[in-house]
Amino acid sequence: MDFTISENLKRIRYDVEEAKSKYRKTDDSVRIMAVTKTVPYERVNYAVSEGVTLLGENRVQEYLSKKDFYDKNAEVNFIGHLQSNKIKYIIDSVTLIHSVDSIKLAAEIDKQAEKINKCMDVLIEVNIGREESKSGVFPEMLETLVYEASQLKNIRIRGLMTIPPIAKSEASFEKMQLIFNDLQAKRIDNTCVDILSMGMSSDYALAVKYGSNIVRIGSGIFGIRK
Ligand SMILES: *Cc1c(COP(=O)(O)O)cnc(C)c1O
Repeated sequence: MDFTISENLKRIRYDVEEAKSKYRKTDDSVRIMAVTKTVPYERVNYAVSEGVTLLGENRVQEYLSKKDFYDKNAEVNFIGHLQSNKIKYIIDSVTLIHSVDSIKLAAEIDKQAEKINKCMDVLIEVNIGREESKSGVFPEMLETLVYEASQLKNIRIRGLMTIPPIAKSEASFEKMQLIFNDLQAKRIDNTCVDILSMGMSSDYALAVKYGSNIVRIGSGIFGIRK
């Protein structure tokens, strides 16, 4: 069973390198995140033993039930929808929150981070397909949110995250790359825009083509979720 995890990682690394060599600068780095939802910690740790250094968590409860058992060699990011009242449970143990999409949430993260003397790195989630079912800010609201959130002392904006509409990955990734480059060029005070989080099991190679530097992969590593 875990043999499959090794094979999957091998294939994904190969695809990422291939996309990088075609479309990116040679010194660009792309991190492969293992998305752990529904996966028992033993299998997560197996992936870490096979060289995975970044884990992605969607659900606070599930994460709390597994985190003490995780191999400490991997960093943990929070990538799911985050309720304000749950921030306090994750703030000390995650290194990046990918899913900030309102000033209210940013302010709550700031408040909890201040309590533990931390400056929390965050990404702004962009709803690139303008889908009602999805979280994220619309592109035209992004700059305002970044300006407002950049005033908060205990968070630091590191970039953008998106989940594109099914079957519209490529056009969405292309748009995201433009938006990301534009935001980076603005050099807004107190921000350090260097992370573009996009691409999942079905479209990670395309995301790498358009500048992603964290691909978030669940089923592609661990198999279909039950
Ligand atoms: C589940 C999930 C992923 C991984 O999805 P797969 O299709 O299994 O690779 C990536 N990002 C987010 C935000 C997710 O919730």
